[in-house]
Amino acid sequence: MKVFVLNCGSSSVKYQLFNMEDESVMAKGLVERIGSDDAILTHTPTGRSSVKQVSSILDHTTAIGQVLEMLVHPEHGVIRDISEIRAVGHRVLHGGPTFTQSVLINSEVKDAIRDCIPLGPLHNPANLMGILAAESNIPGVPQVAVFDTAFHQTMPKHAFLYPLPYVLYERHKVRRYGFHGTSHRYIARRAAEALNRPSKGLRLISCHLGNGASVAAIKDGKCIDTSMGLTPLEGLMMGTRSGDIDPAVVFYVMKHENLTIDEMDSLLNKHSGLLGVSGISGDMREIEAAVKSGDERAKVAFDIYEYRIRKYIGAYAVALDGVDAIVFTAGIGENSPFLRQRVCEGLGFLGVTIDPEKNNSRGKEVNITGEDSKVKVLVIPTNEELVIARDTLEIVSAANSGN
Ligand code: AMP
Repeated sequence: MKVFVLNCGSSSVKYQLFNMEDESVMAKGLVERIGSDDAILTHTPTGRSSVKQVSSILDHTTAIGQVLEMLVHPEHGVIRDISEIRAVGHRVLHGGPTFTQSVLINSEVKDAIRDCIPLGPLHNPANLMGILAAESNIPGVPQVAVFDTAFHQTMPKHAFLYPLPYVLYERHKVRRYGFHGTSHRYIARRAAEALNRPSKGLRLISCHLGNGASVAAIKDGKCIDTSMGLTPLEGLMMGTRSGDIDPAVVFYVMKHENLTIDEMDSLLNKHSGLLGVSGISGDMREIEAAVKSGDERAKVAFDIYEYRIRKYIGAYAVALDGVDAIVFTAGIGENSPFLRQRVCEGLGFLGVTIDPEKNNSRGKEVNITGEDSKVKVLVIPTNEELVIARDTLEIVSAANSGN
């Protein structure tokens, strides 16, 4: 079965076409600048070179239409006919408290995704547009929604509730949800496979360190705590997001800098984190280069970043009552031996050591555990698209067989 996986943003569509016979990717690509006359479609059929097409693409329906044309293109295509696509899987950011797992999309599900827009105002509208656009391009093909928040729905109440007036939870669903759930779920399963252990009894700390960053504490394959909250702003320091701060900083800065709510939102989400502290960049490659060339502000930015990861690992080792394995994933986690080494150096109290030679690797799955380490340390490239494709296949097959 061919499964088409879509991740729709407000002006972009990322896609992958999977052949689920062997879980291989047949093609992948990206449409950028949707809504403009010079939108760019970059399409890469597996094993062949990429093609770029610049054209006017004013909405998601046209964008997905052009991607489908590319998939059957005589030269760049990978399938003969669109009818080979038997299911579509969508990444949806916020499932609120409603969605604890992936679901087959119907009109109630679309309404519920719409109801979650106040919780995910930047992403859910685009995710919904993607669903409607796919429906109009390939009507009748079943679609599945896979939520970034769903994996974290197993958190106990004491981990997901904020110590705020309870009425805010009841009236406005103010609570911690967590994000990157699809990535943490992939890591939980893959780490158990790599360690050749059943999920039952395994205590994992999964560190997803990309532009956005979060840590999850996973016990028996289920999330018991994670660092992001109502929004992806809570938790670790990130490329341009602050992560945890004293909430009173918000009123203090708004008052003294005379900022509006939107300006303060932008300050915390787009001008803080590595970028805000270093004044150089939110991109870890540039921060590392600046640290190595002796830049003091880059050094302190890196130190905060690394220190806060360690603090979360310490806290989650307590939440899990011990830890069997720590996993690094996403852009920074997969590609920065420097960051992994600095984090692990500071975890001596947990009995963590790593093998410097094995750690000297980028973008590959590798067990970097030191010989005398009491805790396994793994690098696992994440694969959210594969999780979406697997869920889509499973849900659509079950629906087809009448389960
Ligand atoms: P992601 O959001 O998962 O694509 O991750 C993006 C982050 O990964 C950016 O901060 C990049 O700087 C970082 N990154 C990618 N490659 C490297 C590398 N070789 N060394 C350090 N950071 C990297």
